[in-house]
Amino acid sequence: MNVLECENQVSRDGRMTAKILDGKIIAQRLKDQLKEEVDVLKKKHGRGPRLVNVMIGDNHSACAYANSQKKVAEYIGIEYDLLNLSTEITQEEFIEEIKKLNSDSAVNGIMIHKPIPEHIDYSKVADFVDINKDLEGINVANIGKMILDQTKIIPCTPASCMEHIRSSGINLRGKEAVIVGHSTIVGKPLSLLLLNEYATVTVCHIATSEAGKLVEHIQKADLLVVAVGKPGLIKGDWIKPGAVVIDVGINRVDSKIVGDVEFDSAKNKAGYITPVPGGVGPVTVVMLMRNGIEAFKVQIRGKE
Ligand code: NAD
Repeated sequence: MNVLECENQVSRDGRMTAKILDGKIIAQRLKDQLKEEVDVLKKKHGRGPRLVNVMIGDNHSACAYANSQKKVAEYIGIEYDLLNLSTEITQEEFIEEIKKLNSDSAVNGIMIHKPIPEHIDYSKVADFVDINKDLEGINVANIGKMILDQTKIIPCTPASCMEHIRSSGINLRGKEAVIVGHSTIVGKPLSLLLLNEYATVTVCHIATSEAGKLVEHIQKADLLVVAVGKPGLIKGDWIKPGAVVIDVGINRVDSKIVGDVEFDSAKNKAGYITPVPGGVGPVTVVMLMRNGIEAFKVQIRGKE
């Protein structure tokens, strides 16, 4: 366990409560490791990774997120460019832009910034991103390689969850891992990563709730990961004492950001818990950079 990353909490009545898995501290450790790795790569190859974020339009929150990515990239020593395209662009023109980036040897990683306009089919264009430049690990071929445990390019949010889980020190082998949410970007890929660690994985979703079975699954979870997008869906009472709880949810309630887990009650039952904000989010950005470095290494190996 990395004790520095887990802050012990004591409640007002003196009881110990869950250790907080602090995303900012985990992110800082990983950024420092990646910075060292990039320094070595630059010395060896004369340059480091260059990443391009393709954004359609200039949506305010998307720009803020891109700025935070740029800051992290700069810290690590990665070149990061924003390619801003008009909202008038057609799907075919957009695919052409992706193909240009694919064939540009000075570009090592590509990401498609969401949201994108409705007239463009995200999953279709994402599959045009070169498998070796796929920063977000969302390309269908990378997902296939992940099933076979053959790639280091892993979707960023599940990769962030895994870093938090490692920081808790839990040995997943034979443990009950319950994921709530089965999206393509979080729940499904995370289930594969947990299976690779020999956890016994249950994936719950809306139909689990409809069948009235959500609580019984959560009660048996040694590890609980929630990625739904409904504030306070998971009540503290349901959590198994000592469980590791990873809250991926980001919800705006009365101008505050909260997760999917009722934090105040959950921290009295859990052994470890991520805060929202300041948990999974900060590490997710760093995982994007890690994928960029992996992509760079694969491309360099291809040329050697
Ligand atoms: P999504 O909307 O694609 O999927 C939601 C999932 O929740 C589905 O599997 C659905 O069946 C399930 N669900 C809905 N209501 C439910 C209920 N009552 N009981 C059980 N399951 C229910 O979600 P997503 O894109 O994976 O995002 C989920 C949340 O995670 C959102 O709040 C999003 O903002 C957040 N998110 C955070 C990060 C990060 O880096 N921190 C990254 C991605 C997503």
